[in-house]
Amino acid sequence: MIGDDAGPARHSGTRTSEDGRHVQRIAVLTSGGDAPGMNAAIRAVVRSADARGVEVYGVHRGYEGLIDGRVSFLSARSVSGILHLGGTMLGSARSERFRTVEGRRAAIKQLQANQIEGLIVIGGDGSFRGADALSREGGIAVVGMPGTIDNDLSGSDYTLGFDTAVNTALEAIDRIRDTAASHQRAFFIEVMGRASGWIALCSAIAGGATEVLVPERPTDIDELQHRIHQAFAIGKQYCLVVVAEGDDAGGAFEVARRCGEGLSTLSHRVTTLGHVQRGGPPSMRDRILAARLGDAAVSALLDGDDRVMVGEIHLELVRTPLEEAWSTVHHTPPELLDLMDRLAR
Ligand code: ATP
Repeated sequence: MIGDDAGPARHSGTRTSEDGRHVQRIAVLTSGGDAPGMNAAIRAVVRSADARGVEVYGVHRGYEGLIDGRVSFLSARSVSGILHLGGTMLGSARSERFRTVEGRRAAIKQLQANQIEGLIVIGGDGSFRGADALSREGGIAVVGMPGTIDNDLSGSDYTLGFDTAVNTALEAIDRIRDTAASHQRAFFIEVMGRASGWIALCSAIAGGATEVLVPERPTDIDELQHRIHQAFAIGKQYCLVVVAEGDDAGGAFEVARRCGEGLSTLSHRVTTLGHVQRGGPPSMRDRILAARLGDAAVSALLDGDDRVMVGEIHLELVRTPLEEAWSTVHHTPPELLDLMDRLAR
């Protein structure tokens, strides 16, 4: 088995496998919510490993499939034609069984039966908690790749799927602006983000929204009403309020209802974007990120690293202890919220 230390706090270099033995067989799985770019990431892992003489096995349906032994060999050719597709060819799942020691024990047995020496997990914080436990309990080396549209993991400026999700939300906001302007309306647009305001904030700035409501900042409905009123008073033809689904004031319908109570003359509509933000072809940025991180994840396993997440910070590839990645939330920076407020005038 590969060494099981967590590696240095954060580094961008490589180190030699502790026993100097060449890893021959690794596995990859996608877990939690799907994100555009997961397929590109699987392809990058398979081809990067293939180029270095390492066999890759795909685990179908995340940890749930791992427990059931749903593992199959992935050749370089088997990942043809998936780069541009949303979703994940391996499927994903939320697995209650994997949360238990017994479930993880069954998963470890499957990995051992298939002679898998290292596992690459593409997913979010929950998936990394599971991977961490798997490695500690089973001695299997794990490397995480940040695959979630939420962009809430520390250890990478951006997570796979985030850029695509923001672009999808942005396209919808652009279209809504056309109709909002024609009717002098306020629109409340709900985007994904239960605990993270990244999609809301970035799509609001890029879409020229009037207001953004994010879980990271308490919402004052009276203040919001006042600002919407002011927006029309200073001559705005429309008002776009982007609401992260996890905002403390509630979703877009609730915010619109509460706001509308004090603005009886306000014509308003609500749009919830929902799962369209998860689908569709990955953007160029997500494809490049998938290529770099897939290759970096294979390198990390070959270097003998364990319980690290590969990420990109300031365009440099870095490895962060998995525990740090899942336990430290990557919040939206206050300066971006301030920028949003300054430009919405
Ligand atoms: P997303 O950010 O898109 O929701 P995620 O990886 O955070 O992705 P979760 O549903 O939280 O998605 O986690 C995926 C799976 O990881 C869970 O279904 C479960 O099997 C496993 N998992 C989550 N938390 C733990 C934990 N504390 N211990 C063991 N396994 C866990």
